[in-house]
Amino acid sequence: MPALLDVHPAAWPQLFVDMGVAAFHGRNAARWVFQRGAHGWEEMTDLPADLRQRLQQEHPLATAKLLASSGAHDGAEKVLLEMHDGATVEAVGMPGTAGRTICLSTQVGCPVRCKFCASGLDGLGRNLSQGEILEQALWLQRQQGPFHRVVIMGMGEAGFNLDAVLGALDVLMDEEGFGMSARRITLSTVGPQGALARIAAWGRPITLALSLHATTDELRQQLLPGVSKRGIVETLDEADDLFAANGREYTIEYVLLEGINDALTQATELADLLFQRRCHVNLIPYNTVEEMDYTCPSRLVMETFAQRLQERGLSVTLRRSLGRQTDAACGQLRRRQRPPTRTSTEV
Ligand code: SAH
Repeated sequence: MPALLDVHPAAWPQLFVDMGVAAFHGRNAARWVFQRGAHGWEEMTDLPADLRQRLQQEHPLATAKLLASSGAHDGAEKVLLEMHDGATVEAVGMPGTAGRTICLSTQVGCPVRCKFCASGLDGLGRNLSQGEILEQALWLQRQQGPFHRVVIMGMGEAGFNLDAVLGALDVLMDEEGFGMSARRITLSTVGPQGALARIAAWGRPITLALSLHATTDELRQQLLPGVSKRGIVETLDEADDLFAANGREYTIEYVLLEGINDALTQATELADLLFQRRCHVNLIPYNTVEEMDYTCPSRLVMETFAQRLQERGLSVTLRRSLGRQTDAACGQLRRRQRPPTRTSTEV
């Protein structure tokens, strides 16, 4: 039998039948996990004790261990999880106006190796499974309480692990899973070959966040080496096709790097590229990564860049970054071995 969290909860009753017990125990177990936040079989007090014991031995529910959790003054809180094979991943919860937003990782490390991001420093370790992605949500919920939005913006490139990512999103959205609305889910990707078309075919109205970061193919390929064969216009056209399929305007993510992509001429080029596309621009101030030589432009430069886009009719936000104090902000998640900062709590 596969790990339970790798299986859609709608199929749990049959798995229980295959084990020789009644189907309703499977439905009940799914409710315990996704709606009541149970973390182990022993908590499911209305399942027969011998069944709980058997499940505990044969099919442990959670495979990840919580190594550390750390908080920042701005309310962002990170958890460091160790997977069954010793691989480590980080996930973050952040306060928002309507409730908490959780940010989940999709891979151990990242193969794209963006020049300004800590996640790809050691390349790709491996893909995370559907269950390992869901476990991050369960751990964050357990540590920090209920969440309202999910962003697939942690470590890893979702576009290279779509089976597991879309499977996890299906569970997040299903009534028998977390029962979330697709409108409260955002998936961030560099848009590798075939990924946006696959999300379009899947058809659920989640929001796409497309990491662009440059206005010429040459600069984009330098900054995002893992997308070397993809052209910007071709990628934007695919994002438009996704909009046509699921009706959701997409977000363009653009990390502002001083002296690299923050010139006013580049703002104009960006406006030209996005002219008449159904998107919103999210400008992200660069968050410091120790090993990297970039700097964040001044507030004035970033605001002037934003203003140029607005003058050209685009809807723009200059993102506030949560979690910077504890390296939990965009681009700061990495394959850590030890608890992240001195302010973290070891558990
Ligand atoms: N692999 C996905 C998710 C990455 S994290 C993707 O590339 O879209 C979400 C966003 O944070 C991406 O747009 C990413 O490029 C951006 N990011 C990476 N490093 C950053 C940094 N140091 N400062 C600010 N944003 C960063």
